Amino acid sequence: MAHTCPCCGFSALQEPPRSTSGGGSYEICPSCGFQFGVSDDDAGFTYASWRARWKARGLRWSSKGIAPPPGWDAKSQLTSLRDPSPKSAAKKKRSIRPSQRAPQV
Ligand SMILES: [Zn+2]
Repeated sequence: MAHTCPCCGFSALQEPPRSTSGGGSYEICPSCGFQFGVSDDDAGFTYASWRARWKARGLRWSSKGIAPPPGWDAKSQLTSLRDPSPKSAAKKKRSIRPSQRAPQV
């Protein structure tokens, strides 16, 4: 079962980044180099701040031990990460409306 990195959109992580109890997997994303439970819990990076750092460093494949998949493209990978958000934001707006109309007592 593959999992997607919330930092860079790499979709072949071996473990879910966070267990259901909230602990990090300690897996290092071979694409962006984020280590779940370490880069965030110990080093204090958010997914967004790590992504910004990774972008600033040129979106390079991070792992030296694991080769990038054939045709790996950081930019299209990031696009796949961004895709779901506009749709879910639209859904949220719709679901908020009825409660906004309701009188607040
Ligand atoms: Zn990643």
